[in-house]
Amino acid sequence: MAKGEETRLEIDFKALRHNFILLQNQVPKVPIMGVVKAFAYGTDSVVIGKKLVKFGATYLGVAYIKEGVRLRKEGVKVPILVFYPQLKDLRKLLEYNLIPSVYNFHFLNELKSSLTQNQKKHFPIHIKINTGMNRLGFDLKDLSQLQDELTSSNHFKLEGVFSHLSAAGMPTEDAFTKQQIEKFKIAVEALKKNVTSDFIAHLSNSSGILSHPEAAFDMVRAGIALYGYGNNINEQKNLQIVASLKTRIAQLREIHQGDSVGYDRKFKATKTTIIATLPLGYADGISRIYGNHKAEVSLHGKKAPIVGNVCMDTLMVDVTDIDCREGDEVLVFGKKHTALDFDKEKQSIPYELITRISQRVSRVFLENE
Ligand SMILES: *Cc1c(COP(=O)(O)O)cnc(C)c1O
Repeated sequence: MAKGEETRLEIDFKALRHNFILLQNQVPKVPIMGVVKAFAYGTDSVVIGKKLVKFGATYLGVAYIKEGVRLRKEGVKVPILVFYPQLKDLRKLLEYNLIPSVYNFHFLNELKSSLTQNQKKHFPIHIKINTGMNRLGFDLKDLSQLQDELTSSNHFKLEGVFSHLSAAGMPTEDAFTKQQIEKFKIAVEALKKNVTSDFIAHLSNSSGILSHPEAAFDMVRAGIALYGYGNNINEQKNLQIVASLKTRIAQLREIHQGDSVGYDRKFKATKTTIIATLPLGYADGISRIYGNHKAEVSLHGKKAPIVGNVCMDTLMVDVTDIDCREGDEVLVFGKKHTALDFDKEKQSIPYELITRISQRVSRVFLENE
């Protein structure tokens, strides 16, 4: 056994490539933006971003300017769209040639001042349209004022128009999704007619690609599915999990009726029980909500529930019925025991679990691609 870190996140490039190809086959020839926000969903944004470009992603997407700057500093050259640019970082946005999502007039005006100050013209932007998510974006009623703003100055180059689907992975909400697609078409047609026809329109996230491939427009934005998770059983079917959180048993202990485990004595044994202590805790991203039998890990192919409260750096599992030794490998979640399997009570979603693996957990890349 190689002596590596006990707790590590293993990243499988082959699975990443498989998912990229699967998504590309859903929408043949449509360019794919690889979404690498939040450390590429908890993996590593630079390494994964570069792989995705190699696989054929034509754009990368991030949430914050800082995330885009990091990619640029590491030599990423493709266009990078920033979904939620913060006003205080606008200078960096210009300096590093990142494309902002422009979602309201306040932001548009602030950007305009910043461009004037820096003597920049025809700066590429993507306009975000609100089609029903009601989070960020211009409403359809804002379109004529927006068109005036865009045509009355030479600050901006309208390079993209996009929106976001709220429930594309929920078949029961398909009528709503269709309505979002129709609203988006109206906005795109209006901007084509009144501003320029030379921009790309994009709407679909992973669930859009997998469940509504007809709504691909000129580009799709792939996030969670690249990492191997779908938003329903059908979407999940052919995806491969990219990241596996693994650790090793630090200590085994036999306890007896009446003995307790961990802080606040939350677990009390009713019979002789074998407890394994694992060297990862809430500071590594395993929330306290998973303590007290709310989640289970996998060890020698069998499931072991978390007992007692999760500690900062450790957690304990019940391995009474599993033949195991100190040092044995444990899969917290990953390939054969997914984030959905770990989260037995479905208190969260894979997005949250995988993006929370903290930066102190080593990322290990399987060079298998
Ligand atoms: C995060 C995000 C995506 C990717 O969504 P997935 O469901 O992970 O595919 C796409 N577009 C925007 C605007 C996002 O914020």
